[in-house]
Amino acid sequence: MGCTPLHWAVIRGSLEVCTLLVHAGTKQELTLRDRGGFTPLQLAADKGQRHLSNILSNATKVSFGDKYCSGRLGKVGYAPILFSYLVILMILFLKSIVFASDFSRITAAVGLWSWAAISLALASQVVFYRVSRNTPGYIKTNTEGLDPKELLMGIDLSSSTFTGSWSQLCPTCKIVRPVRSKHCPICKQCVEQFDHHCPWISNCVGKRNKWDFLVFLCMGIATTLLGAAVGFHRLWTEPIILSSSESWTHFMVTKHPGAVLFMFMDIFLLTGALILTVAQAVMIARNLTTNEAANQSRYTYLRGPDGRFRNPYNQGWQKNCAYFLVNGYNNDEEAAWPTLQQTVE
Ligand SMILES: [Zn+2]
Ligand SMILES: [Zn+2]
Repeated sequence: MGCTPLHWAVIRGSLEVCTLLVHAGTKQELTLRDRGGFTPLQLAADKGQRHLSNILSNATKVSFGDKYCSGRLGKVGYAPILFSYLVILMILFLKSIVFASDFSRITAAVGLWSWAAISLALASQVVFYRVSRNTPGYIKTNTEGLDPKELLMGIDLSSSTFTGSWSQLCPTCKIVRPVRSKHCPICKQCVEQFDHHCPWISNCVGKRNKWDFLVFLCMGIATTLLGAAVGFHRLWTEPIILSSSESWTHFMVTKHPGAVLFMFMDIFLLTGALILTVAQAVMIARNLTTNEAANQSRYTYLRGPDGRFRNPYNQGWQKNCAYFLVNGYNNDEEAAWPTLQQTVE
């Protein structure tokens, strides 16, 4: 029939085998067709196996990360671009806002704020270096002395971290990884409490650097906000001599091009940092990783007995945030759920 083992797992409707094969295999196997011309996904949809087709279509999807971050760009990512952007922004700030000859002399108060902005920018660069170089929580691999072709066979299933979920097995690192971790195809290692691979810091965001990542984002907001305030003040207090036909914008662009460019670049960065910070804060408050939120259907631990979404780690936003602020990572102990009897009461 030209069926692969994955086709057979779908024909038999075996969720467990299907999950195992998807985790152990490559994306290529998902695209193979049987003699009837069906891929495993099409077969699952044809047979009305909703759960199986969900798993297969999720696995087939080429994620944004895989598409834009793999290959040559891979591990280097966009961190050098972000670094250059920050340096250009700092030079523009000094040259076109603080020491600009086309502006009137800076007052002591504004000068003080400017230096605060510069100091914050330099401190942000230090945190940027830390967050991109420090481990996000890589899990030690177990590949030494093992035949690379041997897929899941080398894994010790008696490990105490194994809860029986196939998604815990990493065929690349040959380990049973803790629940909530995931293999990053760019870093080529499993990451504890994997959140996402951030191309802008050229590193994964996981259990061990989530705190640094949030600090970096908040410092980014503070710096760009301060820079924008100083820039705006400089532009606003400048005497404007407009000819009758000239608009304010045209005057500013022609008279202070550097300052206008700085404002544009600064506000662009501020917007990005704000969006990312809000997204991260919401996730921390929910005690959910970005990966879990995006791939809910892949993880059985995120489903309650009724089959609907349930986050077992969510202890309420106050407890979640407090735990994160004290420990630097989210609590990964399962919350106590009310028993059936308590619910009835
Ligand atoms: Zn791995
Ligand atoms: Zn990564």
